[in-house]
Amino acid sequence: MNQVMIITGGSRGIGAATARLAASRGYAVCVNYRVHSRAADAVVEDIVSAGGIAMAVAGDVSVEADVMHLFDTAERQLGPITALVNNAGILERQGRVESFDAERLARVLGVNVTGSFLCAREAVRRMSTQRGGAGGAIVNVSSMAARLGAPNEYVDYAAAKGAIDAFTVGFAKEVAGEGIRVNAVRPGIIDTDIHASGGEPGRIERLKDSVPMKRGGQPEEVAKAILWLLSDDASYSTGTFIDISGGR
Ligand code: NAP
Repeated sequence: MNQVMIITGGSRGIGAATARLAASRGYAVCVNYRVHSRAADAVVEDIVSAGGIAMAVAGDVSVEADVMHLFDTAERQLGPITALVNNAGILERQGRVESFDAERLARVLGVNVTGSFLCAREAVRRMSTQRGGAGGAIVNVSSMAARLGAPNEYVDYAAAKGAIDAFTVGFAKEVAGEGIRVNAVRPGIIDTDIHASGGEPGRIERLKDSVPMKRGGQPEEVAKAILWLLSDDASYSTGTFIDISGGR
């Protein structure tokens, strides 16, 4: 069977590394992004020029209509979806809980939590053997923040990722008998643009000595774990987590 992946937030950082690695392993890849079409197109061009199959679809994962359009478009152009990577995630400027307003909380929970649920829903509707699908695999991209709490930085983001951990455990059990495996990765401090989004582009430099391995991670190191969890090599693993955090 052809392997077809949707990766949300696949245009930059961990998502882009995962898209490239997946394509090199034979997946046809749908690269979702929200606004930066040039970055998404660059990932697609890399994949296609290396002989792979890829397309880009814009859409905000926190918007139900966008998610439905993403899945319909990917399936129409690439075939039945066999893999979903719930990777799109945001954090906002570093701050303390006492400064967070309702709009910020809605954005952070909307993209990180609601977005992952909506994409998982569309995936299970297509993959479930109870609905005539052929099964599949899903990886949620959580964070070590779910364990560490991100105090004075973004406890809201950490709480959203805690929700993703609980979601992974429960959803995995719900669909385990329908040919779908659901797992998650918890990256630590990975070298991407996300730290600049929080207002501190140099965050890795500040924190690297607190990591037992004394360095930040690379997106490709996360991508390899995601691809393993999606692969048949992980055929008896569901509802489980891989921490990719240099021991943090
Ligand atoms: P990043 O470099 O900031 O890239 C974010 C990606 O998500 C971009 O492709 C962006 O597209 C897309 N995106 C943002 N909001 C979206 C939305 N509403 N709908 C669809 N796509 C959206 O992030 P990253 O560091 O690679 O993070 C990827 C995942 O890993 C996230 O879930 C993050 O929480 C998690 N993570 C990262 C780290 C780390 O240290 N980097 C650690 C732990 C966990 P546009 O460019 O078009 O906006």
